[in-house]
Amino acid sequence: MTPSSAPAAGPAGRPLHIGMAGAGLSCAVIARELAEQGHRCTLFEKRPHVAGNCHTERDEKSQVMVHIYGPHIFHTDDDEVWALVNRYMRFMPFVNRVKATARGQVFSLPINLHTINQFFGKTFSPAEAEAFITQEQADTSIADPQSFEEQALRFIGRELYETFFRGYTLKQWEVDPKRLPAAILKRLPVRFNYNDNYFFHKHQGMPENGYTEMVEKMLDHPNIEVKLGTPLAPDALAEFDHVFWSGPVDGFYGYDLGRLPYRTLDFQRSEAEGDVQGCAVMNYCDEAVPFTRITEHKHFSPWETHAASVCYTEFSRSCGEADIPYYPVHLTEGDDLLKAYQARAAAEPGVTFVGRLGTYRYMDMDVTIRAALDTARAFLAKH
Ligand code: UDP
Repeated sequence: MTPSSAPAAGPAGRPLHIGMAGAGLSCAVIARELAEQGHRCTLFEKRPHVAGNCHTERDEKSQVMVHIYGPHIFHTDDDEVWALVNRYMRFMPFVNRVKATARGQVFSLPINLHTINQFFGKTFSPAEAEAFITQEQADTSIADPQSFEEQALRFIGRELYETFFRGYTLKQWEVDPKRLPAAILKRLPVRFNYNDNYFFHKHQGMPENGYTEMVEKMLDHPNIEVKLGTPLAPDALAEFDHVFWSGPVDGFYGYDLGRLPYRTLDFQRSEAEGDVQGCAVMNYCDEAVPFTRITEHKHFSPWETHAASVCYTEFSRSCGEADIPYYPVHLTEGDDLLKAYQARAAAEPGVTFVGRLGTYRYMDMDVTIRAALDTARAFLAKH
């Protein structure tokens, strides 16, 4: 629906002026939904670009599309979300097939029949591999796994866990896997066939011209204004009828109760001729290797041809005040600080907290878009 054909908005037919902190996926989706119903949205983005951490940019020299804040692969079972992203950008076929270097060999991830046969030096059929892993799991005698470690032991047994997950997880989170929630591991499948697709979802792909152009198109609407390089100042909140806040929830309160813990990432960027590692993602699972993975970005656009290459070596560390927050750190023992901020946020008049930082959740892009759509619709139903 175009703004001119949209019905008068609001209970009194008054179009609202909405302020938004951030111009990543959450605010872009909400802004578009609201703009199409006649509301005016102003987005304040402190960085010089839209699309948040899924920002992409072509490397001038090699012309490779680079995922500036690390790799983002779109995958979903949600047909409406898939239709929405395809409305703004053609998605090209892409299947994430990850390799892992561990104990001096290269394996296939997620753990599948090839990984199991190579690792144990076997020629198992699917049924034999399943029976073997069931035996490995039975040895751990964990009935109801709560932590990442228990889930891994229950799922794949001790040997695979210690080779592929323990070291990588210690580097990624710097927390003993006994204290991390099982949900982190539940993101990954284990397969007793040779399917090495990293994801379960029926839709998977990459935006032909990158995520940033996709988000720019979402925001290209006469009722939407984007102010780049401009954070939303706390004293400006009162200028708006409502605010959607996709920045850190603790940041909204000036961190007055303390800082919620995040992991940040450092990328060592390197450029070279040819094919450096032969795949998009190579994980390094040994604890002694200081980085978690190397991504070679031209392989994220397999429909393009590039002679040169851009690689990112990825290091994870605790997020300091001046760093970009990536992953919220949830622990099995719960978090009173988070609960305190969430209670305040839920009662905040005129402000809705959204997205990975606003709700302090480890969210994939499709989950972020679904949550944003639901939030926008709930808002429109009331206003
Ligand atoms: N993980 C691991 N070894 C691997 C890949 C993943 O131990 O080779 C664990 C690690 O704890 C990681 C989690 O599984 O944080 C989820 O992995 P995923 O690849 O989904 O991480 P993301 O790409 O979101 O960083």
